[in-house]
Amino acid sequence: MSKTSHLFEHILTHYRGLFATFVLLPVSALYGAYTTVRNLMVFQLRSAPVKHEQRVQKVIRQIEDWKKNGCTEKLCTARSGWKSMSELVPKYKLSHRKIDVGMFDILEIFEQRGTVKVEPLATMGQISRNLIAKGWTLAVLPELDDLTVGGLVMGFGIESSSHKYGLFQFICASFDLVTADGQCLHCSPSEHADLYYLIPWSHGTLGFLVAAELKIIPAKKFIRVHYQPVYSLDNIVDVFEAASRKTGENDFVEGLVYSRDMAVIMRGNFTNSIGTDGPLNAIGRWYKPWFYKHVQTYLKNGQAGVEYIPLRHYYHRHTRSYFWTMEDIIPFGNQPIFRSLLGWALPPRIELLKYTETETTRKLREKFHVVQDMLVPIQYLKQAIQYFNDHFNLYPIWLSPMAIFDNNRHLGFVHPLPKKDGTVDEMYVDIGAYGTPLKTNFDNTSALPLLEKFVMDHQGYQALYAKTTLSREDFRTMFDHSGYDKLREQLPFCTQAFDEVYDKISSKGRVSPVEMRKLENKS
Ligand SMILES: Cc1cc2nc3c(=O)[nH]c(=O)nc-3n(C[C@H](O)[C@H](O)[C@H](O)COP(=O)(O)OP(=O)(O)OC[C@H]3O[C@@H](n4cnc5c(N)ncnc54)[C@H](O)[C@@H]3O)c2cc1C
Repeated sequence: MSKTSHLFEHILTHYRGLFATFVLLPVSALYGAYTTVRNLMVFQLRSAPVKHEQRVQKVIRQIEDWKKNGCTEKLCTARSGWKSMSELVPKYKLSHRKIDVGMFDILEIFEQRGTVKVEPLATMGQISRNLIAKGWTLAVLPELDDLTVGGLVMGFGIESSSHKYGLFQFICASFDLVTADGQCLHCSPSEHADLYYLIPWSHGTLGFLVAAELKIIPAKKFIRVHYQPVYSLDNIVDVFEAASRKTGENDFVEGLVYSRDMAVIMRGNFTNSIGTDGPLNAIGRWYKPWFYKHVQTYLKNGQAGVEYIPLRHYYHRHTRSYFWTMEDIIPFGNQPIFRSLLGWALPPRIELLKYTETETTRKLREKFHVVQDMLVPIQYLKQAIQYFNDHFNLYPIWLSPMAIFDNNRHLGFVHPLPKKDGTVDEMYVDIGAYGTPLKTNFDNTSALPLLEKFVMDHQGYQALYAKTTLSREDFRTMFDHSGYDKLREQLPFCTQAFDEVYDKISSKGRVSPVEMRKLENKS
């Protein structure tokens, strides 16, 4: 390594906060401005919902070419792996044949049916802006602007309305999928139902998603948020579970746990007017405190409270601080002076954060840093908080209730938990742990496998954008593969074209950013 690269590595490793502030933020802002302009131009030039069919044909043609060439390589989408919302980078992008699924349009709003038809590269930011302007919103709108429909369908997606509407997959009325034999299949509960139920979590291993129809609901201007501080583990569980099960009463439910015995449980409702019981708080403005810091003040004051938050500010309340991971990147980022001067530039872009990882920060991340979402039946919430407290001591913890609906046919990778009496409990909770645990002698290389075992023992699931150490066998136990295996055999060319999910999401398919840079330089 040359002296200059040594120096660069030293700065990236030991002055990461300053580097992020003075280099990554301005570059992110410039890059953000560039991509906005480029996307607008590309959008102006290429956006044409009426040309959707031609774009589908283009995907089909690429598959026909692959067949003509003897189906020698496996296939994946052409989207850069650096853009994926994960701390890892897909290695298979280097070896697989890339299929350009450049489809980013909002195709049509069907007000009567209460759905919107979109292409897979449409993002949450694009859809929410477009829909809200027309008085609509997605029933489940995951947090970050850059999350794509394709990623949320093929991976997983959740928001604080998921107790009512379920995971992102459950707001999908239908999918259009181009399979490995070059057919475009329309999949819904009544057409190609096996495929419809197995597309979510399949990570593009059954075909290429070219459109999805998503459930929309009427939007209102504000969310009235009720903040309830609670001061014991039993109370955290009781208040959170009661709020989550009142699906008719609460449009949104979320919990932020600040220690084993302290949390703030939030209930939100759509409204068009600001009541007299609380102030308007535009929490998304650049100079405002990071949301989780603001929520914590209710614990300190010891009193419940109400606020009215503008709709898009509510949806993106954790974006500026990437939940609370920004504290590890820019430790002084929530200081009032920093927010006033540079708060508008937050957050730095995920791909830049990944691209500037060094060998030293990789080692530190792998050993001491945790980014995991674990989905467990809500009946095990108490044990789960206790587990995270004892084995991680990492706060805050994010609690987002979510339904996994029973499709009565036991189809799909995830199923709700049957109780001892045979009834089914569809209510789960996503427990998000992000940051550096304070547990003495913590080492994630041993803590993660134990956590995965805890989740499996409690009939839970792991979000697959995050790192997993599950063996193939355990992975197949956690996620039901019975229908998937059959379908892959039945669909022509499927096994020739696509890896299994495990091969894409485990260490076989994904590597650290540092390793990916090395591989890219070699190739
Ligand atoms: C900081 C951070 C915050 C996050 N916050 C949230 C959150 O608030 N809520 C939430 O639900 N999730 C969140 N996530 C996780 C996120 O939901 C997942 O990463 C999800 O998979 C979407 O990511 P993506 O759009 O980058 O998709 P990608 O990672 O690009 O894609 C995911 C998978 O889908 C496949 N795929 C994508 N498009 C297609 C297609 N057209 N055809 C076939 N296969 C396709 C890809 O090959 C890949 O296997 C967060 C992640 C991070 C790192």
